[in-house]
Amino acid sequence: NTRIVLASRPVGEPQPSDFRIESAPLPVPGEGQLLLETRYLSLDPYMRGRMSDAESYADPVALGHVMVGGTVCTVIESRDPGYSSGDVVLSFSGWQSHSVADAKHVRKIDPSLAPVETALGVLGMPGFTGYAGLLRIGKPQPGETVVVAAATGPVGSAVGQIARIKGARAVGIAGGPEKCAYLHELGFDAAIDHRAPDFADQLAAAVPNGIDVYFENVGGQVWDAVLPLLNTYARVPVCGLIANYNLTSAPAGPDRAPALMSRILTKSLTVRGFIQSEFVKESFADFMLDMSGWVRDGKVGYREDIVDGLTNAPEAFIGLLRGKNFGKLLVKVADA
Ligand code: NDP
Repeated sequence: NTRIVLASRPVGEPQPSDFRIESAPLPVPGEGQLLLETRYLSLDPYMRGRMSDAESYADPVALGHVMVGGTVCTVIESRDPGYSSGDVVLSFSGWQSHSVADAKHVRKIDPSLAPVETALGVLGMPGFTGYAGLLRIGKPQPGETVVVAAATGPVGSAVGQIARIKGARAVGIAGGPEKCAYLHELGFDAAIDHRAPDFADQLAAAVPNGIDVYFENVGGQVWDAVLPLLNTYARVPVCGLIANYNLTSAPAGPDRAPALMSRILTKSLTVRGFIQSEFVKESFADFMLDMSGWVRDGKVGYREDIVDGLTNAPEAFIGLLRGKNFGKLLVKVADA
């Protein structure tokens, strides 16, 4: 069993030395358990939070323990009557080649419905995050303007495309011309490069009627540019703040909280954070039905960025926080 453990807690940007590659004997499944071989590991921004021991909504990974993460795995040995060897399952096995999981904690994936790795992206947690955050909090109406950043990633691309399906205008923000061109391919009405020197002006020009829903994925200077453009009664689902994840202190400059609160007050804004798991019980079944239909009918496109080999996971993860990925970042750990 090859596995990657947390070697040290990063200060600022994670370094390769914060991870350690180890080998361990194959684990042995007990009654009601499965021995799994990992095919795909999902790399996600939340993992930066788990590397830190700052207080959060989930416990940190302990030093020396395997990094957490969603996986698509093949069952190698089953000690549960509901599963047989060869079954493909969605699991939370982390950064390792093999693992043991309780059968009740995995979900079977039907390989005839869609490529199995989509269970980690467009048809999985990130796609659901975009779906639930947009529809439950953002509530876009026909003709309204929806803005989302990190728009080529699995969350943002779901948000923009679902906004269009609901009859809204979708404006995507992404890093670089290649990513912006892809947003046009996906049907976004406008695409803005947040690295352009006149980014704020370009964004203002792209939303002549203001912004009704801003799906917050990044924070930082994107949020600064969005705030003055928000319409009265705009909704802001706060999903992620990736521009902050490697910060070691508050950004330079004056405290802007009073100006922000005043804007929330005078524009009657709804700013509401969420963790996708809070919507699973009520909305996951609807999501699977809607999203698999939209993907099948070509109404929602998706892109994957697949890195080969588990030992390349640390470098790929460090790149994710810098925007080096283009599409849902996955590690191919083993062939089918
Ligand atoms: P992505 O695949 O979109 O990857 C992150 C992207 O963020 C990068 O590719 C980069 O894209 C962009 N980015 C990084 N730094 C900055 C910056 N300083 N300014 C602007 N953009 C930046 O990730 P996901 O789709 O998986 O996740 C998107 C967001 O959703 C994250 O913030 C994540 O934490 C959050 N999330 C929240 C969940 C919840 O339950 N609340 C669940 C899942 C995800 P680019 O090159 O285009 O700038």
